[in-house]
Amino acid sequence: MSQYDFDLITIGGGSGGVRASRFAANLGAKVAVVEGAHMGGTCVNVGCIPKKLMSVAAHYHEDFEDAAGFGWHLKDKPTFDWPTLIARKDAEIARLNRIYENVLTTAGVTILRGWARLVDAHTVEVDGKHYSSRTILLATGGQPVRPDLPGAELAITSDEFFPLGAQPARALVYGGGYIAVEMASIFNGLGTATSLVYRGERLVKDFDADLGLHLAQEMAKKGVQIALHTVIEKIEKAATGLRVHLSDGRVEETDCVLLATGRKPRVDGLGLEALGITQKANGAVVVNEALCSSLPSVYAIGDLIDRMALTPVATSEGMVVAEALFGKPGRSTRYDLVPTAVFSHPNVASVGLSEARARAQARSQGGAVRIFRSTFTPLRHTLSGRAEKTLMKLVVDPTTDRVLGVHMVGPDAGEIVQGFAVALVCGATKAQFDATIGIHPTLAEEFVTLRTEYVAPA
Ligand code: NDP
Repeated sequence: MSQYDFDLITIGGGSGGVRASRFAANLGAKVAVVEGAHMGGTCVNVGCIPKKLMSVAAHYHEDFEDAAGFGWHLKDKPTFDWPTLIARKDAEIARLNRIYENVLTTAGVTILRGWARLVDAHTVEVDGKHYSSRTILLATGGQPVRPDLPGAELAITSDEFFPLGAQPARALVYGGGYIAVEMASIFNGLGTATSLVYRGERLVKDFDADLGLHLAQEMAKKGVQIALHTVIEKIEKAATGLRVHLSDGRVEETDCVLLATGRKPRVDGLGLEALGITQKANGAVVVNEALCSSLPSVYAIGDLIDRMALTPVATSEGMVVAEALFGKPGRSTRYDLVPTAVFSHPNVASVGLSEARARAQARSQGGAVRIFRSTFTPLRHTLSGRAEKTLMKLVVDPTTDRVLGVHMVGPDAGEIVQGFAVALVCGATKAQFDATIGIHPTLAEEFVTLRTEYVAPA
């Protein structure tokens, strides 16, 4: 009999922790998951899933407007009811919470309800009770960061956005990353007068530069008031709502300020310092290639290790750990070609290298890059009359002809780029893209019909 209660205790029932635990149990391990809140973590409760549902809801606004160009006439102006959306979204999340629990219990995993603390290299305390385990997996995810500015406590973060009981008439979103552009698009699409304030010069700055510039133009066309190179100096209560003092001298009155200024690893109360587990300055657990921390029995995955805060990356890492500990080692997560999408309106999606990264890489080797780029009106907007443009871009290595990056801003960009990510993982060349027959008429066919090399205007 084992000297431990479990082979694996996973702390955190989010996407990564649940996947690792289920995999480990299926490989024969005796597993427990500790979770103090609803199962499913950020993605299910306050992230990907509710965000996507609300993004779909927000898109109907345009769909109703666009339908007129196709001969549809709605007798009455469509109206939107925020509480209905929130209640239906909450019911779906509750269903997913139950599914996550069932997935674990069906696999034979024990669920320990409560908040965990590491006692030693093999012991976890959950609300005063001690459990021992041969290995421990930390999968506690992340949490929003509130910037240190006067009145920040009057604002909400994405955590408080999802359960909002009433729709604000006006909202100001602070930040220029994933969450900021997604939330601004949701508010705007649902009819809230929305502004976005960002300190930098380009939205979604970690993506290819053309994407952020194009996205800002398109979001502005849809009605989002965007202020770049601007910071919030102070937030204070107004007679109705909030008054936001901006660095450009303006004072904006709004009903809701949403801070989307980044996320940090969730480590408070875990007891990592006492065990000497090495962490980065922001608290992230430092792990080696095998996702093992500085304590050999303790592993960590997902947002907590601050590599790529994306659900599919966390689930991949979870499977890597489970396989390594209880199956056949050798599985790994490939970080260089992770496709990703931002569900702003319009969507943004990418896989591979941005033009700037590819140029920097090429320069260091004395090489160059080829760029293929197209900006066009999607077919549906020829009749809808909407002035929205789609952007598609390929980054190619002229020496090997390999496609290094696929980038898009436009409808269903995530759906389209997911498929092209497979091609990049297979090492596809531009000649192979060119030899692929397009599906006509689609947006995606543009990626296999781009023939003229783009030369930036001097
Ligand atoms: P991001 O890192 O994407 O963006 C944070 C933004 O806040 C940046 O624009 C940043 O500016 C700005 N910022 C940071 N600190 C301050 C400050 N003190 N004052 C003013 N502005 C500040 O973080 P998010 O919170 O949007 O998202 C966190 C992560 O979650 C993402 O990186 C992504 O990995 C994941 N995510 C994925 C989604 C998806 O897959 N669709 C959706 C949502 C989140 P600057 O650029 O100048 O640093």
